[in-house]
Amino acid sequence: MATTTTPTETVDAVVIGAGFAGIYMVHKLNELGLMVRGFEAGDGVGGTWFWNRYPGARCDVISMEYAYTFSPELIEEWTWTERYPAQPEILRYLNFAADRLGVKPHFQFSTRVVSAWFDDDANQWEIILDDGSVTRAKYFITAVGCLSTSMTPDFPGLSDYAGEVYHTADWPADGVDFAGKRVGVIGTGSSGVQVIPLVAQQAAHLTVFQRTPAFSLACGNRPLTEQELQDFKDNIDDHKIRSRASGTGQYTDTLECNALDHTPERRHAVYEERWDRHRAIDLIACYPDLFASREANETIAEFFRGKIRATVTDPGLAEKLSPRTYPLGAKRITLDTNYFETYNRDDVDLVSLREQPLHTFTTTGIRAGDADYDLDAVVLATGFDAITGPLLKIDIRGVGGRTLQDKWADGPTTYLGVAVDEFPNMFMLTGPGSPNVLTNVVCAIEQHVEWTGDFIRDLEKRGAARVAPVAADAQKWTADAVELADGTLYPEGESWYTGVNIPGKPRVIMSYVGGLDVYRQICDDVAADDYRGFAVS
Ligand code: NAP
Repeated sequence: MATTTTPTETVDAVVIGAGFAGIYMVHKLNELGLMVRGFEAGDGVGGTWFWNRYPGARCDVISMEYAYTFSPELIEEWTWTERYPAQPEILRYLNFAADRLGVKPHFQFSTRVVSAWFDDDANQWEIILDDGSVTRAKYFITAVGCLSTSMTPDFPGLSDYAGEVYHTADWPADGVDFAGKRVGVIGTGSSGVQVIPLVAQQAAHLTVFQRTPAFSLACGNRPLTEQELQDFKDNIDDHKIRSRASGTGQYTDTLECNALDHTPERRHAVYEERWDRHRAIDLIACYPDLFASREANETIAEFFRGKIRATVTDPGLAEKLSPRTYPLGAKRITLDTNYFETYNRDDVDLVSLREQPLHTFTTTGIRAGDADYDLDAVVLATGFDAITGPLLKIDIRGVGGRTLQDKWADGPTTYLGVAVDEFPNMFMLTGPGSPNVLTNVVCAIEQHVEWTGDFIRDLEKRGAARVAPVAADAQKWTADAVELADGTLYPEGESWYTGVNIPGKPRVIMSYVGGLDVYRQICDDVAADDYRGFAVS
């Protein structure tokens, strides 16, 4: 148990993180008239978009949809330039939003929360910062993001390698010049497929080290027209209604019949039409059975493979780049610009780590299979310790000093993905067990912030000192969520969705797969039923 130190500040609420969730949560608490302090490790707002500055970093949700909808001013005063926004534009947007909402003065930047423990007697959290100072607060709210703890695999010899090493999730703010260099990229997930074409343009030679190929969709990015922007603003109410009523925060026109009900020719025509829309949701949610039946899924997986064969001129290379070991969508579909085209360049090589395992880094490069690859720089696009990683990095202790690490040793248990029994007055935004990453995350964040804000207002009104979920309700929520996920193809993907990318992490899907629309209704019903499942005192 941590010892009590002299607090430097006592506030009503502490919020960790200044990304989409933290900015809105601080604003919401300000509206409630509470005294709130935000802490953020970066020296500015942005969250994941502050750190992921690698070349090519771009969102996989359409810009106008990847934005707050709660404020008419923010909608009216901001104009997106591209269909899929690049990292610098998203960072500008978040700075604009934080300034317009006036939340920046409430944040202390360049400050990492090291630990937080619940003081059972005072019903307060004591939050300890990396400079040793302490803040006490009644409410402890984590807005730490789902993809904010980067993962560097424990590669043998990495520390002996004399070349430059970069991680996509922690990219130097001043950029990197690869001109004239022999570069290696490890990883072909969303970050890898975005960074690879741009590194290839700069470097003298690029070697891509691929363990599992990606299903990737050409994003067809382009500038937005004034007409599109105006139409969106004119129809914002309709957009809000439709996105809030959708399972993913992105609406699409799912067909009523199943994929297997159509002839192969008809299906192919449907997939072609949707491929040209350049939106992953239009493809994966095209037929209702695509994510329920492996046979149906294979029809669209093969369509994606056909696109790879049509792009990559060397058939052997096209086959190596074709995913065959998991259903489409069980790992996140990536969105790219010229990814497969890049492999037609003479100065780009692919090493399939399934055929040539990565043995070790050497002082000059990488040894894979029976070959040595000399490299001046290596880019690790190896991903994140997702969803629970950022929470477990903080030493969080609840009632009786119980650590969250201990509580979640076999996987996260939560109630509604928002609260944990034995951890009173703590709320998690997009926590494990909520729809989080299976949605347009800004929609999920708005739902979480608004629901949490309403709950805190209610607690304050009734003078409550302490609130925590009932253990049995949390266990039921978690068990039901796992059972729901087991009925889908998600468990078949070896990815950060299930935690298998981190050695020793319990294998469990960390998201509620039932859809944001259903989840929203459940949360609203819980609230209407006097916050059923929570013990308030
Ligand atoms: P990721 O999807 O987890 O991909 C990591 C890549 O590194 C995978 O190809 C993985 O191979 C490989 N890898 C990991 N450990 C390895 C090892 N020991 N040896 C060899 N290869 C290894 O991570 P990410 O690409 O950073 O993306 C994570 C998530 O962030 C995305 O799914 C997305 O949600 C978000 N993101 C979004 C965007 C966007 O909006 N466009 C951009 C970037 C990231 P295996 O597949 O075999 O494990």
